[in-house]
Amino acid sequence: MAAPSSGVTALLAWFAQEGEDLPWRRTRDRYSILVAETMLQATQVARVAPRYERWIARWPTVETLSGASLGDALAEWHGLGYPRRARNLHTTAGVIAESGWPPSGDLTALPGVGPYTAAAIRCFADGEALLPVDTNVARVLARRFPAGWPGTPPGEGWAVGQALMDLGRRYCKARSPRCDDGCPIRQGCPAADSGDVSANDPPRRRQGRYEGSLRQRRGRLLGELAASGSISMGQDREAASSLVADGLALERDGALVPVE
Ligand code: SF4
Repeated sequence: MAAPSSGVTALLAWFAQEGEDLPWRRTRDRYSILVAETMLQATQVARVAPRYERWIARWPTVETLSGASLGDALAEWHGLGYPRRARNLHTTAGVIAESGWPPSGDLTALPGVGPYTAAAIRCFADGEALLPVDTNVARVLARRFPAGWPGTPPGEGWAVGQALMDLGRRYCKARSPRCDDGCPIRQGCPAADSGDVSANDPPRRRQGRYEGSLRQRRGRLLGELAASGSISMGQDREAASSLVADGLALERDGALVPVE
C-alpha cells in the first residue's frame, strides 16, 4: 500500500494533539451519532453540545426516545431550529426500535437520514473509512486536495472524518481562512499557494434572511405554544397552518395546540 500523503499525516498528527473534545466524539453508538449529526445539520457546534448532552441524558436509546411523545421531543428540541429534524428523529427511533437498524447501505431509508448523515453513522459509529462530506469538509477537500482524497490510512476513518471537520471549522473557513495563521496542513496547499484561496470553492448555498421569515415566525409560534399550551390560529395563520401541515402542532377548535 502507498504511504499516506504528507497532508493526511499532518492532518492526523494535528488532530491527535489539537482535536476538540466534543461529547459525540466520546461515543461510537449509532443512535448517539444520529442524534448529534441531526442536530449539527443546521446548528453550530457550540450550541449543539449542551443540548446533545441533555437529549442523550433524557433519551439514551432509540427505545427510550420512541417511548416518549412527539410533543416532548419537539419541546426538548425547541431553540435548535428546523424542528422537522426532531420529528424525523422521533419517527426514526420508532422504526429502529420496532425493526432494528437497516443494513448500512440502506440507512437513507430512515426518515431524515440523507447521504451525509448515513455516511457519518458509518464512519463515526461503525468506523468505516468513508468520508462524510458536509459543507466544511467539501471546502477543505476542494482547497487542499483538489486532485482527490489521497486515501485514508488503515484504521483512521473516524479520525480523518473528524479532523477534516475540525479543520474546516477552525482554520479553512469560508471567509478569512487561516492559511498563514497556524493551519496545520498549509505546506503543499494548492489553494493557499495560488494566492486566491476561494477560487475553486464549491458553490455556497445562500440562506434567505431569517428576520421576518416564515422560519422565524414558526419558531416564535412554537415557543409561545410551549409556554402557553394553546394560541389562536389567527395570530399568524400562515405560520400556524404550516406547522400543522408539517405535523409539528395540531389545530383544535381554531386554536393551535402542541402535538401529543
Ligand atoms: S492552507 Fe488555507 S486553504 Fe489550505 S487547508 Fe489550510 S486554511 Fe485551507
